[in-house]
Formats: sequence, structure tokens, C-alpha cells
Amino acid sequence: MKACVDIGGTKVAVSLVDDASSGDLPAPMAVRVVEPTVKTGEVDALARQVLALIDTACARVGIERSSLVATGVSSCGPFVLIDDGIEVANPNICGGLAGSPRGIGNAWTHIPLEAPLRAALGRVRIANDAVAALVAERRWGALKGSDNCAYVTWSTGVGVGLCVDGRVLRGKNGNAGHAGHSFVVDGDPAAVCGCGNRGDVESMIAGGSLEHRIGRDAASLMAAAAGGDAQADAAVQRLCEIMGRLLYNLTATLDLQRISLGGSVFLNHSTMLLPRLERELHRYFPALTHGLELRAAGLADKVGDYAALALVCDDR
Ligand SMILES: [Zn+2]
Repeated sequence: MKACVDIGGTKVAVSLVDDASSGDLPAPMAVRVVEPTVKTGEVDALARQVLALIDTACARVGIERSSLVATGVSSCGPFVLIDDGIEVANPNICGGLAGSPRGIGNAWTHIPLEAPLRAALGRVRIANDAVAALVAERRWGALKGSDNCAYVTWSTGVGVGLCVDGRVLRGKNGNAGHAGHSFVVDGDPAAVCGCGNRGDVESMIAGGSLEHRIGRDAASLMAAAAGGDAQADAAVQRLCEIMGRLLYNLTATLDLQRISLGGSVFLNHSTMLLPRLERELHRYFPALTHGLELRAAGLADKVGDYAALALVCDDR
């Protein structure tokens, strides 16, 4: 069995998958356990929560933790490298970060992940959740066969995974692709991101910021636009202009061939959003955008479940 760990700001999920399964389709999960992400106690509380969930999952299928072949971890970022081990510095988990919302209940600025998991489990592969999703989309989804591609999630936040010349980009701390925290417009000064930036892409268009910024959530905004509300339609168009600029900037910088789009905001409204994003993207420099393919994520809402598995698919 292989263990797949998905760490988010609100929940941690652990699944076990049969090691023998491989091929064109992702293997079914043998067991899946989920808990709210722990945010109190000692600084290693999250790592201990992951290990406890792994033990629970192993017990359900009657195996020992020591018999796991490999463990893949798809985690929200950003990461910091401390003594060559990945630690998580996410503002929704670490209460001591500048951009953290108040009341998380801890003063952590970064929390150990790789070192304690490696000590307990041996081989562990950890990647940012959007990077892991990119690997999964390249293996099973809409990015199959593409060596120059990106996965973009438009959800509570905005995240990106990147692949150029067949190489998945990671960067000095494993944070390549945090383009949700870049600036593509003169942003609304009232839009504050969890990272502390004002007016970055995530603070302008992510599902988590819409209610605060424009007074309605993504679902009600899209429904109103679909129903012919001109003001809502203009607001959706503005969101697509901003996402379109981000997609263009990625394409111009990296010479991308294909982009897979996922995340709840996009997937729940892809019929409305995909053509608008295509129009936005192709407004810009044709020499760079011609032939670029925008696709809805092939794994759809299962991307998160299979992201961690994709990291350890070739491990035996
Ligand atoms: Zn940000």
C-alpha cells in the first residue's frame, strides 16, 4: 500500500492505495480518513496528526505503518527549507505569520513536516498542492502528453503548478508557482490576501475573497450573471480579465502549450468561465498565445485526492 496525504488549511485527508494498481486510470482509494487540520498544541502537532491518521487508515485495512511502500504528501504552501527539510508556512495554519487571520490559536511561523514524517516513515515525497495536482493531471488528466504546461486552481485561493521542457518546476524552497500572490492589475486597496498583500490576484478573484470584496460569494455571483444580471455579468467579466492576465503572463514567461484549470470556483462554473478566459488570453500577443489550449481539469474534483498519489506513482 501507498499512503496519500492531502494537507489543507481546513482539513487533512489520508488515503491508502494498493501498490499494484497503475496504468491509465488512477487507482481506487482503499480507505480514506479525514480530520480538521490541527492548529493548537506543540509546533509538531500537524506532523503527529498526519502520522495518527496514517495509523488509523492502516488499522482499517489491517496493515502496519511499517509495511507502507511510499508516502506522497500534497500540502498547502508556502514552504520553507530548514536543514534541508520542508516546513509549512501557511497563513491559514500558522498564527504567527504577518498575513494570518486572527484567532488561529497558535504563534507558529512555520511547522516541521518532512523531518518528522521521514523519521517515522522512511521515504516521503512532499510537494505543494498545485504542483502535485499538476503531476496528477500530467499522468491521468488534461495535461497528458504535454511537456510545457500548467495546472491552475481557482478555488478558495489561486494556485499554480508549472512544467517546462518536461520538468516540473519547484524552485529554491519548493514554492515555484505561487502566482496567486503576484500582481496583474492595480488592485483594490481594500482587498487583503492571507499572505498580507493588498490587491494581488488571490485577493482580487479567489473564492475566499469575493464575499468580502464585492459582497457576494462565487456561486451567487455566477448564478446572477447567468440569469442576465448585467452588474453581476460585468463583475464576472472583471474576474476573467484578471485571471486571463495571469494565464497570459504564465504563457508569455514559460511558452506554455496547455493549461488545465481546476478548483471549485472554476469547475462549478466552467461553461461560463472557460470561453471568457479563452477570449481574454487570445486578446494578447498572438505569437505567444497561438495554439495554447485551455482545458478543464481532466480529474475534475478528484484532482486533490490523486495529487499525493501521483507523487509516488513511480516509487516501488
Ligand atoms: Zn497573496
